[in-house]
Amino acid sequence: MLDPKKLSLSTKAIHGKKLHPYKGPVSLPIYQTSTYRFDSSDDAIRYANGDTSVYVYTRYHNPTVHDVEEKIALMEEGEDAALFASGMAAISTAILTFVHAGEEIVSTPALYGGTYRFFRDILPQDDIRVKYVDPDRLSTLDRLITKKTRLVFLETPTNPTLDLVDVRELVSRVRMMQKKLRTKIIIMIDNTFASCLNQKPFDAGVDIVMESATKYLGGHSDILAGVLVSTAKIIGRVKITAKYLGGCADPFMAYLLFRSLKTFELRVTRQNENALALAGRLEHHPKVLRVLYPGLSSHPQHALAKKQMTGFGGMVTIEVRGGARGAVKVCDALNVAVNAMSLGGVETLVSIPVYSSHVNMSAAELKRQGVAAGMIRISVGVEAIADLVADFEQALKKI
Ligand code: PLP
Repeated sequence: MLDPKKLSLSTKAIHGKKLHPYKGPVSLPIYQTSTYRFDSSDDAIRYANGDTSVYVYTRYHNPTVHDVEEKIALMEEGEDAALFASGMAAISTAILTFVHAGEEIVSTPALYGGTYRFFRDILPQDDIRVKYVDPDRLSTLDRLITKKTRLVFLETPTNPTLDLVDVRELVSRVRMMQKKLRTKIIIMIDNTFASCLNQKPFDAGVDIVMESATKYLGGHSDILAGVLVSTAKIIGRVKITAKYLGGCADPFMAYLLFRSLKTFELRVTRQNENALALAGRLEHHPKVLRVLYPGLSSHPQHALAKKQMTGFGGMVTIEVRGGARGAVKVCDALNVAVNAMSLGGVETLVSIPVYSSHVNMSAAELKRQGVAAGMIRISVGVEAIADLVADFEQALKKI
């Protein structure tokens, strides 16, 4: 009998743990139900006594959702997973499980805008403070981490600048401080940009891996979903909070995600290839001031990317001539690439960070996050690369 944990990512994504001699439907049944009929009240009594194997209510658990959680845990190489209605539901539930009033988070500053605004506008209302560490000066973690620090949050590659954070160095500094202060600090990564094909944060010692499954895991721009992967103990705690915050996954969404996972490895491999090729072509274009992509040898952290990533991902950011007006002209002239927010789908999407993910930020905040007005973030899809290159070349002629 093969060990599902030892199979390749594509096999895990297709079969999960359901290897021979598993019997049942090849596809996943959708348990489109909010509640479950008991055999007798004995079931209710068993549940009341703490037996979590008794299904009672879909906000607590659902067989379709459970299958997807099991599969993603296997793919991310964690013990267990919790699926949520969105990436933000996953992030907020994890934070509110482990960080309480009077406690602190230390985070890298270049974050998905929604996460950043949650940290900036919502957490202070609950007396939770977020401090930011400059990823180029991780040694300052020694000062930033105190006895109040419960969680360290990081995103790499960053959105939209595609800078990298050295995950191993960050983990080793946090663990050193944890030992010194005799506390327990949870390290959580938003792995959405890389996805589990391109980055394996558990190997570097991270505790919780989060992905907005709306993006690469879902891959078709048709669902919202988020996932947390960790030890069974951590996920058990998160699931208790999830019951009360209510951001649980819906069975039909879970089914669509399950279907998408079967082609995850094919899609993201092609997206990696297309992104590298497109970045290479745009790098020398006269209307493009710079191309940010960790797979290019011109990227200042290319050596780190080769060390800590297993692929360079499908996200490319370019800065065009003419600032925001130039970016608007290009986005409006594209025919194949779609002018839409979000990322990770099979179709190439473009967005202008100052009008999308980084809207509602001051000039100082944009500067700190390295976001320029003329940036266009490209989520490279799986179209033929020749069509994508031709599309960008004709659109760049408009500036
Ligand atoms: N993290 C990153 C890097 C994202 O890009 C996004 C969404 O764009 C999120 C988290 C939030 O995910 P969701 O939109 O599924 O709530």
